[in-house]
Amino acid sequence: MQDRRNFLKAAALGAAAFSFEGVKATPVTAAGRVVKGQPIVISTWDFGLPANKAAWEVLKQGGRALDAVEAGVKVPEADPKIQTVGYGGFPDRDGHVTLDACIMDELGNCGSVAALEHVIHAISVARAVMEKTPHVMLVGEGALQFALASGFKKENLLTPESEKAWKEWLKKSEYKPMMNIENKTYNSNGATAFSPLQLPGNVYNHDTIGMLAMDANGNLSGACTTSGMAFKMRGRVGDSPIIGAGLYVDNEVGGATSTGVGEEVIRIVGSHLVVELMRQGYTPEAACKEAVTRIVKKSPQKAKEIQVGFLALNKKGEYGAYCLQQGFSYAVCTSDTKNELINGKHYF
Ligand code: ASP
Repeated sequence: MQDRRNFLKAAALGAAAFSFEGVKATPVTAAGRVVKGQPIVISTWDFGLPANKAAWEVLKQGGRALDAVEAGVKVPEADPKIQTVGYGGFPDRDGHVTLDACIMDELGNCGSVAALEHVIHAISVARAVMEKTPHVMLVGEGALQFALASGFKKENLLTPESEKAWKEWLKKSEYKPMMNIENKTYNSNGATAFSPLQLPGNVYNHDTIGMLAMDANGNLSGACTTSGMAFKMRGRVGDSPIIGAGLYVDNEVGGATSTGVGEEVIRIVGSHLVVELMRQGYTPEAACKEAVTRIVKKSPQKAKEIQVGFLALNKKGEYGAYCLQQGFSYAVCTSDTKNELINGKHYF
């Protein structure tokens, strides 16, 4: 993994009131004017790298950020080895793979699906909700009906590997969602000792892909898609398909997305909060840090035992992230050859 210190460059901030570290991806003139034509795409976790690559193919040809984020998150959605997003996602505790996703464009248009079954590309269904219906959100059976009527294919999303993991989980059926540190969990008092998850293979517990992009016209869009918490209660919906919680984009200011225990993100309407803080002059990283701090203040005990991470991109092409626990990575792509992973700073 890239040494973060080599990669990050401390940047002076526009708003003198804040002195947090920021990262500049887009050149800004001495007068503070953004130089257009410098697209960027960022996304959560290691699987953000191949997702960014697909998004970059759209951006580098002058494509729209909306098309880029959709193309990008479709990569992990289609990958059966990623057991926290799309096809091959871990099922709920009754054995059903249910997907949550949302998308938002530069005009403030948005679409979302929750508890969608049998369709791999939940993000494209969310986009269809945005573009073809007068609504923002469709859920469950209705979302599936709409998807099938719109030409999406009905498929079995439960892979043998995820079914095996679910059956293993059923032996104890312990309903104890764990934090999303790759193949590891913290011990019960929140200390940093790790113990392996009792799941077969190199699995993730619950990691979402959230992606934000700015295109050559300086327009922003975002997408967020997940199979949610592994072995969740049937009908449980997290933050990821909730506009304002799992994703928010305001083309005047910037965009934000989240990953981790969705209940805590919903409680603070996390992504909207991050964008509003950026509007007030916070850098992306400072805004994400403030949102994480808000979670700690609201749930001090619980915050020690869970993971939540925020990722943000502002209108100047500056980006940043912050999370509760060590282990949250995000990927940043600014050219054909520059697509790198960064470790998010953490509260604990
Ligand atoms: N935020 C997702 C949810 O709560 C899960 C995750 O990102 O790990 O469903």
